[in-house]
Amino acid sequence: MNHSIDLHEFHWLLAVVQSIDVGVVVLDRQYRVQVWNTFMENRSGIQPKDAHNQHIFSLFPDLDQQWFSRKVESVATLGTPAFTIWEQRPYLVRFKSYQPITGQEEFMYQNTTLLALRSPDNSINHVCLVIYDVTDVATNRHQLQAANAQLQKLSSTDRLTGLYNRGHWEESLRTAHARHQRYGTALSLVMFDIDHFKRVNDTYGHQAGDKVIEQVAGLLHEHVRESDVAGRYGGEEFGVVLSDTDKEGAQIFAERLRKAVETLLVRYNDQSIRFTISLGVAELNGPSNSHAELISRADQALYSSKKNGRNQVTVYES
Ligand code: GH3
Ligand code: MG
Ligand code: MG
Repeated sequence: MNHSIDLHEFHWLLAVVQSIDVGVVVLDRQYRVQVWNTFMENRSGIQPKDAHNQHIFSLFPDLDQQWFSRKVESVATLGTPAFTIWEQRPYLVRFKSYQPITGQEEFMYQNTTLLALRSPDNSINHVCLVIYDVTDVATNRHQLQAANAQLQKLSSTDRLTGLYNRGHWEESLRTAHARHQRYGTALSLVMFDIDHFKRVNDTYGHQAGDKVIEQVAGLLHEHVRESDVAGRYGGEEFGVVLSDTDKEGAQIFAERLRKAVETLLVRYNDQSIRFTISLGVAELNGPSNSHAELISRADQALYSSKKNGRNQVTVYES
């Protein structure tokens, strides 16, 4: 077998390695740099003559020494290549991101390949590290993820109030219901509806009515805990899922909310609008309750509040 290559070809190969837009580093078995191409020079600011014969770990103190040497040793002993991908390890050596204007990332994301280089006698005395800049790919992926999260949020929330819309809220209730069934913890539901809301619309106009709904949602938002789930069930109807809360606790919550709405003054143009809400409370108290049954019970209690004069809380009793 003839291992020698033409000197011309060698120069060409060198020119190619120098000019390609990937990092090429050759290391000997003592981790000393033998080749350092232009990409590496430009991104690290270290010239080939200064990199030559330096330990890779002294050039990149952040490089995980134990992990990297394990990789190199396995490549050098087995002769098979090893790879890293940015999804698992964002970069091997930290370089600043190279997108001065469009850049959204702090550093260069990298895929890397480690190759065994065989000597003419077939022994492996060197390994070649190839570094690919995949920052564009990572940026696109991150933008897509952000857009998806935004879409997800838009499709699960109500535009006027920012509360969960009915579909998403019911889904949350279904999940909470299943969880509480399994673990036997308490779960309560509060439903409420604005009293004589048609009158608000008729007296002050539909836009004033919208403002009232918005402010009720704001008040609701202030009153719930992190673990509670508040949603807009219908036009001026709302639901709150209260985790780890029995009906006594839910009643206290409902009463507090009722009082807060009673004292709320919504200003629209030069007018001050006062109004009240009626509420219904139901607790999950038997394995046979479905989440729909829980809604129906809270709704029945709410209906009693309306019938008995509005601006009050009723707890469903079986
Ligand atoms: P009750 O005390 O029995 O609840 O009387 P009500 O007048 O509030 O009766 P009901 O709950 O049936 O009426 C709801 C009204 O709310 C009907 C609808 O025109 C109005 N509405 C529903 N959604 C909106 C909305 O997004 N904005 C405004 N401004 N009004 C709405
Ligand atoms: Mg109403
Ligand atoms: Mg209503």
